[in-house]
Amino acid sequence: MSTPYWVAGKPRTSDSPVTVRSPFDATVAGVTSNATAADIEEAVAAAAAARDEVASAPAHVRADALDHVSRRLGERLDEVAALITAESGKPISWARVEVTRAIATFRWGAEEARRFSGSVQRLDTDPGSEDRVALVRQVPRGPVLGITPFNFPVNLVAHKLAPAIAAGCPVIIKPAPATPLSALLLGELLAETDLPTGAWSVLPMTNEQIAEMVGDPRLPVISFTGSDAVGFRINDANPRKHVLLELGGNAPVLICPDWSDIEGAAARVATFGTHQAGQSCVSVQRVFVHTDVYDRFVPALVSHVRGLANGDPADPNTHVGPMINADAARRVSDWVADAVTRGATLLAGGGGTGTLLDPVVLADVPPTCAVVTEEVFGPVIVVQRVESVDAAITAANTSRYGLQAGVFTHDLRLAAHATAKLQVGGVVIGDVPTYRADQMPYGGIKDSGVGREGVLSAMLDLTEPKVMVLTEF
Ligand code: NAD
Repeated sequence: MSTPYWVAGKPRTSDSPVTVRSPFDATVAGVTSNATAADIEEAVAAAAAARDEVASAPAHVRADALDHVSRRLGERLDEVAALITAESGKPISWARVEVTRAIATFRWGAEEARRFSGSVQRLDTDPGSEDRVALVRQVPRGPVLGITPFNFPVNLVAHKLAPAIAAGCPVIIKPAPATPLSALLLGELLAETDLPTGAWSVLPMTNEQIAEMVGDPRLPVISFTGSDAVGFRINDANPRKHVLLELGGNAPVLICPDWSDIEGAAARVATFGTHQAGQSCVSVQRVFVHTDVYDRFVPALVSHVRGLANGDPADPNTHVGPMINADAARRVSDWVADAVTRGATLLAGGGGTGTLLDPVVLADVPPTCAVVTEEVFGPVIVVQRVESVDAAITAANTSRYGLQAGVFTHDLRLAAHATAKLQVGGVVIGDVPTYRADQMPYGGIKDSGVGREGVLSAMLDLTEPKVMVLTEF
């Protein structure tokens, strides 16, 4: 049976079937269909028509709906995690983490919906305004088109739905072509709520269809998570829209000489440079290791990486799992081979079959190689010896990306210095850059994006201040 998609909250199927297959063994994860042109028009028209109704829906209605989705996700955690694994190849243990995070994302949406209030600003701070005060409310910008990637098919959809509904914006989700089924399941949960008609749609479609849809003037906000190539193309083509971009990175981590647990840092880097085959925007990619600890850190890293379980993502012991498709696996292998040809030392990995790659550790990599300059989005860790923390910061900042960084240090002054100097949206002290809590501001600078997610931050981006000046008569 074909899994329906959702047009203005109503299930629909079309005669353009989409068969979703596991990237691991090509077994069928499910079948759905792409929305028709008429469905897209209906969803956009309904979102535009619902603009005022959704904006003025009471906070308790929007919050209760989000609480409901959060609770139902909890009840169906096993099933949703298995679906993520089936369609994306994400190892089941990581899929369960993703669903647990999405439960929190929707819960945060409910909480923020209840307390999102704006502010009161006194205006009598300057002469001429003695009898005035401003009431500042955050008003919804209107219908949001949320476009999501394949690598977190539930939680990144949650990061579009929850803030939009909490802020009072109708929202249309366009899931990644490889992973539509988990987003459609979220639609099933939303359909159980009392949100106004037109408040939400979930529409699988082709890249040609979405490329055309982004220009629709009835959709003033585009919230995009994906590659920088596509994201900036949308941004450049739509100068009058509010375009929010959560893009890629090649996250750096600094191993400072004062860090007491070098073995533990190596284990964290190994885990989060390779989990779900490195297909995370904050996967550890570039590791700058101070020369004082390099000879202890690198063998420990290599030993941990060699011990990681790779294979069937349905096996609870699997850590790495497959790449999303054979082309992606080939691209990563080609980049590694190119680095080795140009003088890099291969310390681990380099093999693999089909979509499964053995996780790679590289040293002595020329700085112009793609595994350094680009986003690998695969299980590849590049280590570089540095003479000082400042040299590491300088090297880290050569990247065109700037999402998150990690700094292993106990020294608060060094932590503050590195945080000030690293050109990123966030710095994680004492851990890898892969750490993300779903309520914290999250996003990048440079080619990593524009705007911030994290439920409250996204709500601020999806709304704009509207001022009422009150005069005492
Ligand atoms: P992608 O850019 O190929 O696709 C992302 C989405 O854009 C998909 O839904 C796709 O169908 C759609 N799309 C493709 N062409 C389009 C067009 N012309 N107009 C509008 N939409 C179009 O990315 P991907 O391969 O699915 O995901 C991987 C990328 O996502 C990586 O770069 C990764 O770093 C990034 N990412 C970023 C974050 C973050 O929060 N910063 C999180 C996860 C992934």
